[in-house]
Amino acid sequence: MKVLVINSGSSSVKYQLIETSFELIEQDADHAIARGSVERIGTSSAVHTYRPAGRDKVSVVKEILEHRVAIAEIIETLTAPETGVIREAAEIEAVGHRMVHGGEKFTHSALCTAEVVQEIEDCCELAPLHNPHNLRGYHAARQILPDVPHAAVFDTSYHQTMPQHAYLYGLPYVLYTRHGIRRYGFHGTSHRFVGWRSRKLLGRPREETRLITCHLGNGASICAIDHGRSVDTSMGFTPLEGLLMGTRCGDLDPAVIFYVMHKEDLTEYEASTMLNKHSGLFGVSGVSNDMIELEKAEAQGHERARLAIDIFCYRVKKYVAAYAAAMGGVDAVIFTGGIGENSSIVRARSMAGLEFMGASIDPAGNEAAVKGREVDISTPDAKVRTLVIPTNEELIIARDTLRLVKGKLQPTG
Ligand code: ADP
Repeated sequence: MKVLVINSGSSSVKYQLIETSFELIEQDADHAIARGSVERIGTSSAVHTYRPAGRDKVSVVKEILEHRVAIAEIIETLTAPETGVIREAAEIEAVGHRMVHGGEKFTHSALCTAEVVQEIEDCCELAPLHNPHNLRGYHAARQILPDVPHAAVFDTSYHQTMPQHAYLYGLPYVLYTRHGIRRYGFHGTSHRFVGWRSRKLLGRPREETRLITCHLGNGASICAIDHGRSVDTSMGFTPLEGLLMGTRCGDLDPAVIFYVMHKEDLTEYEASTMLNKHSGLFGVSGVSNDMIELEKAEAQGHERARLAIDIFCYRVKKYVAAYAAAMGGVDAVIFTGGIGENSSIVRARSMAGLEFMGASIDPAGNEAAVKGREVDISTPDAKVRTLVIPTNEELIIARDTLRLVKGKLQPTG
């Protein structure tokens, strides 16, 4: 089955056309036939980058003012006689949509019936920066491909297995019952994917495996996975909590916010912008939110770039050790995401000092890890394995869409 996977943001649509089936999943052979993105939607210089598998990428700049036009452009490109990978749109049998927030309602992925779409709309209040844009992509795609099933795959649903003591804040309980104030967690499809891949790599059944997955990108979160189920994760009510991120502060004493608002005379909006856009690696270093740039600056002796990387790695280490304690042990720590997959410096610094719990990485293996490959970077005698596994959230979305369409959705994980 060919599934079009769509990840719609405020001014962008990322997509993959994925060939999948139960037979292909069994052989681990389902794959993207083409992928791409339309960025800067809403301008006369939107950029459509298209990569058909095994062929050169093509970039086109044109006026694209709405998501609907972007998706029409994507379908046109996928079916174009010269550059296309399918003959007609009818070959697309289903569409899978990334949805950020499913609240407590969605513990699994779901087919987009009118009722489900309404329930996703109800979750917009919890994720005003994400869900409305995800839904805009859904409505546009539904208009263009009205006759095929559409499915929603949520970033939050994998974490719905967290126990109450992990997801509740120490606030008046009534805030939870009245307003749903609790920790939800995000990046669920990524944690789920690398958790599943690592069990395969380790050759262990899910019932006997305790994992800590570190998704480190511009946004970053860590997840404790026991028996294939998320039991804790570092992001909370919103993706602001937890690790230091590209521009987000992560864990913070909430009293700081009131103090700074008063001292700097900030509005609520300005304070939120400071925490979400001007903090993190960028805010600490004053150089960049980009780890590649920070590593370069550190190598040239930039002190605050070094400090930003140190804070980043220190928090990763703290969460890894905390989650090992939460699960009463751990079998493997997994690194994924742009930074986790590519930065040997971050992996080495984050894992340094965790030898006491049986984790030690081999410096040569860590340095030699090849981009895009799954690799074990532990020393041979390490009791806790350290793995690098490239994430593939789109594959999970395509597989869940297939299972929903065929009526065979498995429990998450
Ligand atoms: P997003 O959360 O936006 O999906 P990504 O997962 O693509 O982010 O990760 C982007 C981050 O990965 C950036 O900070 C980037 O600098 C970092 N990164 C990518 N390649 C490397 C590399 N070779 N070395 C260090 N950091 C890298």
